[in-house]
Amino acid sequence: MIEIKNVSKWYGKFQALQDCSASVGQGEVVVFCGPSGSGKSTLIKLINGLEDFQEGDILFKGKSIHSGEMKLSELRKHIGMVFQHFELFPHLSVLENLTIAQEKVLGRNAGEAKKKGLALLERVGLQDHAHKHPSQLSGGQQQRVAIARSLSMDPEVMLFDEPTSALDPEMINEVLAVMVELAQEGMTMLCVTHEMGFAKKVADKVVFMDAGTIVETDNTEAFFSAPKSDRARDFLEKVLP
Ligand code: ADP
Ligand code: MG
Repeated sequence: MIEIKNVSKWYGKFQALQDCSASVGQGEVVVFCGPSGSGKSTLIKLINGLEDFQEGDILFKGKSIHSGEMKLSELRKHIGMVFQHFELFPHLSVLENLTIAQEKVLGRNAGEAKKKGLALLERVGLQDHAHKHPSQLSGGQQQRVAIARSLSMDPEVMLFDEPTSALDPEMINEVLAVMVELAQEGMTMLCVTHEMGFAKKVADKVVFMDAGTIVETDNTEAFFSAPKSDRARDFLEKVLP
């Protein structure tokens, strides 16, 4: 579904990514982890075209993003993204947050968009909050709305960039529960997260990054039981309870 091939990226003179290669197959859940500043957010932003890159290529279903074979507007219709800070529209109700892009981008009519929005709110356990504004919800609830909003576009892939790291501890599990359910339903997911319990439970593969490089890619069990590099071992010692 997604192939990252020898990608390098510079911000000005600073090289943020160096020769990174990874792939995410249909229905796979891949967790990206590594120390702060290792390039995880940068890499995930390249996948839906929020940043450009100078070398290498990223293919979505075999089509090149770098060459323009896959247009960014088209790409973003198929890829949902959930950020650390939710990024909901503050002036719109929860339900409007879920219907606006369905109507404006996908051309669904208001009734259809509302029906889909309400069904998704129910799915994330927020059907009673449809007419509130985001500021009236807890962080965990806002993040569940953000996930529902992404799903309203029927994405083929979901990207998550540390979706629980801005949340109070007691709200982390309600968001992870939604993500686990999505994974178990077969969604293709690329998740930047330090929630190693989530990784152990649903990830097919773990990609470990450090200093702009992909240090190792392992199947999940191997990553936790026998990481190949000292850097991954050090990292695991810090993040595992
Ligand atoms: P991570 O998500 O793993 O914490 P990032 O991808 O955010 O790491 O950042 C990787 C490196 O790129 C960091 O050194 C960061 O300071 C740098 N960086 C990120 N965004 C920018 C930017 N817009 N301009 C310049 N440098 C950036
Ligand atoms: Mg980041």
